[in-house]
Amino acid sequence: MDAPTLFICTILVSTIMSLTMMILRAANRGEKYLVDWAIAGIFFISSNILAIFSLDFDLPTTVHPAMGNAFYLAAHAAIYSGINKCINGRSTWTLTLAVFLIPIPLHHIPLVAESVEVRILIFYPMIFALNASALVALWRRRNDKVGKAYWPLMVVLSLFIAQLIIRAVLMFAENVRLEFIGNQFMQTSGNLAIIGFIFLLTISFAIIVFWKKEVTLREASVTDYLTKWLNRSALSSIAQKEYSLSQRTRRNFGFVMFDIDHFKHVNDQHGHATGDQVLIEISRVAKSLMRNFDHCFRLGGEEFAILVSDTNTNELYAIAERIRKTVEQTTFTTYNGPLYITVSIGFALSTDADESWESSLERADKALYHSKETGRNKTSGETQSEDFYSLTLQHVQLP
Ligand code: GH3
Ligand code: MG
Ligand code: MG
Repeated sequence: MDAPTLFICTILVSTIMSLTMMILRAANRGEKYLVDWAIAGIFFISSNILAIFSLDFDLPTTVHPAMGNAFYLAAHAAIYSGINKCINGRSTWTLTLAVFLIPIPLHHIPLVAESVEVRILIFYPMIFALNASALVALWRRRNDKVGKAYWPLMVVLSLFIAQLIIRAVLMFAENVRLEFIGNQFMQTSGNLAIIGFIFLLTISFAIIVFWKKEVTLREASVTDYLTKWLNRSALSSIAQKEYSLSQRTRRNFGFVMFDIDHFKHVNDQHGHATGDQVLIEISRVAKSLMRNFDHCFRLGGEEFAILVSDTNTNELYAIAERIRKTVEQTTFTTYNGPLYITVSIGFALSTDADESWESSLERADKALYHSKETGRNKTSGETQSEDFYSLTLQHVQLP
């Protein structure tokens, strides 16, 4: 293929990348990294426009190859910057700017300006380092919630790095004579690799955006908007899994349910906004007392449930009392000054006789009702031994 055709193809594919990123950005305002990738496309376009002009016009060295290489390197740096922003919220625009500025003074050194080999020796390691750093950054986050979405991009970056190494080895080991557009095989294969790279990048970037959106929607559908705890619709699938696991492993799970005492008064006396503040704060306090892998649900209103895996009655009681006492001792700072709140708690352990997970939740609910009936700010649950009963002052054996 001749050089102008290759450059035009690169411009076309870069334009598609840039436009796709801009359209995706318009539809997903939160995905700011798309701006970096749209700009990477513009850098690729600029680099190739300069290359086309250089075929017919005698451009000054500062414009070509200096600016051409600056744009090309900056495009790789912008891809890296977008990846950083995407995975950890920090873009690396200063690096992109530095990478853009480096080639311009370098081309004023006669050796660099005159020798393609010297330029390759300087710029290849930079392109390698930028893409390898992007690959490592993604690899480190492969177990994130959206980690699977990074795999296509990791494959594309790996392929690009591999061809970079192969071409470098071929050029220097075989002592291929290098000219800007002199060597048909080297130049054509290099340009085709870039075209393929940009094309596959566009697809990989789009996969990340759609995957992220899918995860966000899925999470939102099972998350309570106020407390960020799981909502009731999440309960049945998670509890069903826990129930099946306990049937297989013979390990019991349990529920700790709690309900705020006289919460209606809080709303009536201090307003709904203050009530909401209390709900947020109470869920934060309770969550801080739980282990990371315990599932916390807001069942509705001011009623909450915690699903505890692989547990026993003593542990459930201890968790319940920890929550009750901590809430009792916490001063809730609200728009209307400090508030003191108590909760009533019920807990229940699953049994081998249970035919569904709902049975233990119902028992915990009954225990909670018992706490309310017998004075509030209490923990109730089924005891398994007299010892346990005598240990627990607030503990009430259900009839
Ligand atoms: P008890 O001690 O028997 O539990 O009394 P209570 O007043 O806490 O219980 P009740 O069920 O009578 O009232 C619950 C109140 O919770 C009524 C409702 O206005 C309020 N509530 C439910 N959801 C929300 C919410 O999202 N935000 C706020 N601020 N209040 C809520
Ligand atoms: Mg209540
Ligand atoms: Mg209630």
